[in-house]
Amino acid sequence: MTAVIEAVSYDTLYIGGEWVAPSGKDTITLISPSTEESVGTVPEASPADADRAVTAARQAFDDPSGWSRWDPAKRAEVLERFAVELEARGAETARRVTIQNGMPLALSTAVEATGPATLLRYYAQMAKERPAEEARPGLAGGTTLVRRDPVGVVVAIVPWNVPQALTFMKVAPALAAGCSIVIKPSPETVLDQYTMAEAAEAAGIPAGVLNVVQGGRELGSYLVSHPGVDKVAFTGSTAAGRQIAETCGRLLRPVSLELGGKSAAIVLDDAQLQDNLQNLFVATLFNNGQTCWLNSRILAPRSRYDDVLEVFGGLLEGVKIGDPLDRETQVGPLTSANQRDRVESYIAKGREEGARVVVGGGRPEGMQKGFFVEPTLFADVEAGHTIAQEEIFGPVLSVIPYTDVDDAVRIANDSEFGLGGSVWTQDHGLGVQVARRVQTGSIGINAYANDPGAPFGGVKASGMGRELGPEGMDAYFVLKSIYLDPEHPDHPEPHTPVAG
Ligand code: NAD
Repeated sequence: MTAVIEAVSYDTLYIGGEWVAPSGKDTITLISPSTEESVGTVPEASPADADRAVTAARQAFDDPSGWSRWDPAKRAEVLERFAVELEARGAETARRVTIQNGMPLALSTAVEATGPATLLRYYAQMAKERPAEEARPGLAGGTTLVRRDPVGVVVAIVPWNVPQALTFMKVAPALAAGCSIVIKPSPETVLDQYTMAEAAEAAGIPAGVLNVVQGGRELGSYLVSHPGVDKVAFTGSTAAGRQIAETCGRLLRPVSLELGGKSAAIVLDDAQLQDNLQNLFVATLFNNGQTCWLNSRILAPRSRYDDVLEVFGGLLEGVKIGDPLDRETQVGPLTSANQRDRVESYIAKGREEGARVVVGGGRPEGMQKGFFVEPTLFADVEAGHTIAQEEIFGPVLSVIPYTDVDDAVRIANDSEFGLGGSVWTQDHGLGVQVARRVQTGSIGINAYANDPGAPFGGVKASGMGRELGPEGMDAYFVLKSIYLDPEHPDHPEPHTPVAG
């Protein structure tokens, strides 16, 4: 039984601290991936709306007594209020994410309803603690003041899979640094951004500091090359990331890119998988398989190949598939018909190339509506197979045999990508040694979970730059070195406020 969904619609955009009528008449209809029915309609922003948003962000940034010039402690206070306002709307945010992208409600409640507030508080604290200037002794004598200023107007382009957390991996450090921001959400997930904008307004984020314009890739592209923008922060596919990087390269515009992945779970000889099923589930199937860092390649020692297949087979067969609004559901539908078609075409490709379906492979029985695909386990997968090389972005796992640890590391690194990964073993020291050899931006031992205090991002085609941790805030500053007069006896005290 699918829960009844209450639709939500809007006819304004949040620009310059106001709810303004869009300049055009185009709209975006949000579709529930479980009922295939509309769950809301919002205006689609046009380039003219994007211009308005960038102008508002620019004015806010350039205001000599505005946000960018405030004492960081004053900004932190407002960000902490923003966190409280988001938490007050957390249940509705989680519901909206779930009805738009099919993320199981238990997960959207844990990640999307609370993650943004955690990130705001983390970066608010950092803004208070990190001085904007540091007096550094010069190598050849003298002193240099090294100063951090906010980079300016940021455009944040985000995907639909974990829309709030990924938005706040940009919004929280950017605002804490003193930047203003224009957010361009995916057309699949917009309703949650309205809740977010309402919280920003209620918290007293000054006009123009945070703006939202929703639209497709053309609007994203328009914003990336907009002359009023100082930095682009992007999360999405590698294909789009390459185009954005090309544009930013030509413009010499700072850009950070969090892109796709095809990460490996390396199961060592001694791994105790049965004791660790919940962690295995998270590392391989989190968010219906629609997560960039998922460990969708399982590397199994030849000696334990059948055993590993059995464990994963049992895991996938036991998963509760269903209505994402049901708190018991572990795997919901894929976000769109396109996404389902793409995943199904990879399952067909896997079969064509000679891999064997052990579990799943089709659509779950009894689901009349919705973009559901069964969690699918492939055996006899070779490292070079398409399903072992390309990002599927769905609940499809490939088990690949290896001969020894060197072979496992070689297969793990035989990938265009390098984003996540994991090592499963009872020998923690060995796990860390193997983890050090994997070419990736992050990797876990016997689990995979992002730590907001540590940098997250990719190597190779998985991206450039890092989010989270102090490094995630560095991306929103520009540095300036002021070489102090060596002859002058009085050096100024390092100055705490970023500017002014
Ligand atoms: P996508 O690249 O199609 O779209 C992402 C966002 O970029 C959307 O807002 C879209 O409208 C916009 N966009 C698309 N092309 C653009 C262009 N040329 N210029 C400017 N904007 C453009 O990706 P998606 O299908 O929405 O999301 C899935 C992808 O995102 C997967 O590849 C996944 O791995 C990746 N992802 C990466 C991370 C990470 O942190 N590394 C996190 C989540 C998702």
